[in-house]
Amino acid sequence: MGYFDPVVETLDPPALARLQREKLAALFDAIRAGNGFYRRKLGAFEFDPRRDDLGGFFELPLTTRAELEGDQTAHPPYGTNLSYPLEQYVRLHQTSGTTGTPLRMPDTAASWQWWIRSWRTIFGAADVTAADRLMYPFSFGPFIGFWSAFESAFDLGAMSLAAGGMTTSARLRYLLDNRATVICCTPTYALRMAEVAAEVGVDLVSSSVRALIVAGEPGGNIPATRAKIETAWGARLFDHIGATEVGAWGFECVENPGGVHINEAEFIAEVIDPDSGKTLPDGVPGELVLTNLGRLGTPVIRYRTNDRVCLTRGRCPCGRSYARLEGGVIGRQDDMLLIRGNNVFPAAIEGILRGVDGVAEFRLRVIESGALTDLEVDVEPEPAADGKALVERAANALRDTLHFRPRLRLVAPGALPRFEMKSRRVTRGDGEL
Ligand SMILES: [Zn+2]
Repeated sequence: MGYFDPVVETLDPPALARLQREKLAALFDAIRAGNGFYRRKLGAFEFDPRRDDLGGFFELPLTTRAELEGDQTAHPPYGTNLSYPLEQYVRLHQTSGTTGTPLRMPDTAASWQWWIRSWRTIFGAADVTAADRLMYPFSFGPFIGFWSAFESAFDLGAMSLAAGGMTTSARLRYLLDNRATVICCTPTYALRMAEVAAEVGVDLVSSSVRALIVAGEPGGNIPATRAKIETAWGARLFDHIGATEVGAWGFECVENPGGVHINEAEFIAEVIDPDSGKTLPDGVPGELVLTNLGRLGTPVIRYRTNDRVCLTRGRCPCGRSYARLEGGVIGRQDDMLLIRGNNVFPAAIEGILRGVDGVAEFRLRVIESGALTDLEVDVEPEPAADGKALVERAANALRDTLHFRPRLRLVAPGALPRFEMKSRRVTRGDGEL
């Protein structure tokens, strides 16, 4: 219990580094044989994983999202980061496009198997077994969101309940009728289901659900959001982090709630200073850089994830020596707001507001007037809450932590949007609701 592959997952650091170099050697063979993008990018470098230690690897050039996008614009539709002929690719996913141009990532059958294996590790760590029934309360789309979980559950032998195209209350009925035990969704939608359950009189705490695996947005790592979800569901939350262009790299174990392991059997992790690009020592916050070791068809090498993290090492009580991110992903580098001279991550504001009793939803509005950037917060109360008192409590909580007082605006219950997939709670300018 607690593992997919107990031998690999408990390797000591030198054995793990050897495994990474072996996988890197296979990856470099594939790239040198057929990958136009990385042949051009790495052609001038002598690094050989069979001969050199990982020190030389960390001197290779970084890969950025903009480079991959530019390559696809120049060579539509899939670019040149393809190690094999196109007819060998069987799956396509693309980024959700919330940050600009969608990036299209095709996978070969072998690379897709790698995704499925990565998810087996996530399920193993959360003690998900063939006896579980997993429910996916959203409509599957072109982005990766839980597709690989769905197929990995088949590989594991667990039953999957697809619940797209239903209202939230119909999904609650479906959940009860089929005695789902594990829910895979975004943290926001986990809260939304709890909200509707309260409205229609469904008691989630006494339901068969014992765990939620959340992904796609911050929340699983925000203590107040996490506590709210776990209390409403009477179930354990496991945070998962992945990305279409990188893979399913982050997972939580039973023994370290709120911390995220990096699956270092399948990924090489580093943290860099986002400005200088220099490698930072463990324990210093910076930007996470990942290399995936098993997606040979469309790899990323030293890829800048844009995720701000604080990485630590040392054996976890679960037995793994995989790197850990305490508090998960702190924020996205380019989501950071500069408000009246203060650096603020939207996730930090969520952490404060979810801890205020009676807040049902919120939205942040960044208002730029001349040189001054200001923040306005729309707060939606729970139906029974006293709105005025709630705004006062929220304002005080924000001021105590942020050291400035954003403008707060009370909106009517139900006024703010609810999201099934990626939430968009930050808006710019003073446009209409
Ligand atoms: Zn652990």
